[in-house]
Amino acid sequence: MELNITCIPGDGIGPEIVREAKKVLDKTAECYGHQMKYTDILMGGASIDVHGVPLTDEAVETAKAADAVLMGSIGGNTTTSPWYKLPPDLRPEAGLLAIRKALNLFANLRPAVLYEELAGACPLKTEISSRGFDMLIMRELTGGLYFGERKTVEENGVRKATDTLVYDENEIRRIAVKGFDIARKRRKKVTSVDKANVLDSSRLWRSVVEEVAKDYPDVALEHMLVDNCAMQLVKDPAQFDVILTENMFGDILSDEASMVTGSIGMLASASLNDTKFGLYEPSHGSAPDIAGKDIANPIATVLSAAMMLRYTFDLDREADAIEKAVKEVLKEDYRTVDIMSEGCTQVSCSRMGDLLAEKICYSKRR
Ligand code: NAD
Repeated sequence: MELNITCIPGDGIGPEIVREAKKVLDKTAECYGHQMKYTDILMGGASIDVHGVPLTDEAVETAKAADAVLMGSIGGNTTTSPWYKLPPDLRPEAGLLAIRKALNLFANLRPAVLYEELAGACPLKTEISSRGFDMLIMRELTGGLYFGERKTVEENGVRKATDTLVYDENEIRRIAVKGFDIARKRRKKVTSVDKANVLDSSRLWRSVVEEVAKDYPDVALEHMLVDNCAMQLVKDPAQFDVILTENMFGDILSDEASMVTGSIGMLASASLNDTKFGLYEPSHGSAPDIAGKDIANPIATVLSAAMMLRYTFDLDREADAIEKAVKEVLKEDYRTVDIMSEGCTQVSCSRMGDLLAEKICYSKRR
């Protein structure tokens, strides 16, 4: 298969971690008989430096012509970088918002996995963390409270602010379909999270999710109120497979789920539209404090590349091989500095990429 991928190395550690992800992808292509075709585009600070804007129309067109986008991270030190003296619509982050909009990315996927070897970084009690967890939060990204009408008025000397939370059934249906499709590739369980005891938008959410569930009799569906879900994430995270939820609830719950893994350099993410197209990127930022030192952890980006193989290209075997390589390298006690612990071997970003790449073909042979 030919895989046509647009890469956004971006800023800070972005170029370093994307380079390692490509190394692992190239090895995967070599072992499994695929051809990788990469086209790099500039975004964020790197684009500002060359073009004066964080994203050009040409870059958007290049991304649209690809099957998927693999991104590092964008942005600089928000206090010292000259990029943050620019008006907000010309700053690095404006490029990210613009590309998400141009590509119509409405579904955000954030896996939160607790690896046995990194269980020590989990802030939960050992009796909970020892059970491990592997969940995926599917968050609606373009509707709800963050996009509804808002206003602040003053009435009789009292300031009053209003935000509106609006969803139509089509917006709910398309994200629910994505959630159930993805659950089919995992452990076949969807927990739909809402606040249906209070909100009309949640009652509509719940009824549309139930309609969609009828087309997926092999996937178990449960409903959970958002306040209970926030508790369950720290009490019994192992119960979750796919958590399906609206924009604001997903924003909060996905950060909570990330925190309980305890390792920012390990967290992948994807944003999808209603085709197979997706933008894949680590959940962390551009870490300007460690940029150029070859010490960043590339695993979040490598795992984002594995998600790309699984969700855009349906190459599940190849994605499995990458995820397995990550587990094996951790099991052999290799660590980048951010996840280093006593008795382990500390390796650089590029060495971690080499170690992961070395495991790919080995995993196929067994
Ligand atoms: P950050 O995630 O970049 O860094 C937070 C801390 O975690 C830092 O100490 C950093 O060194 C460390 N860290 C992050 N990723 C790491 C990795 N892979 N390996 C080792 N250590 C890692 O968050 P920040 O410092 O708040 O933001 C820095 C810049 O990144 C800002 O400009 C911000 O706007 C941008 N940002 C971009 C994205 C994105 O591109 N999607 C997301 C978040 C933040």
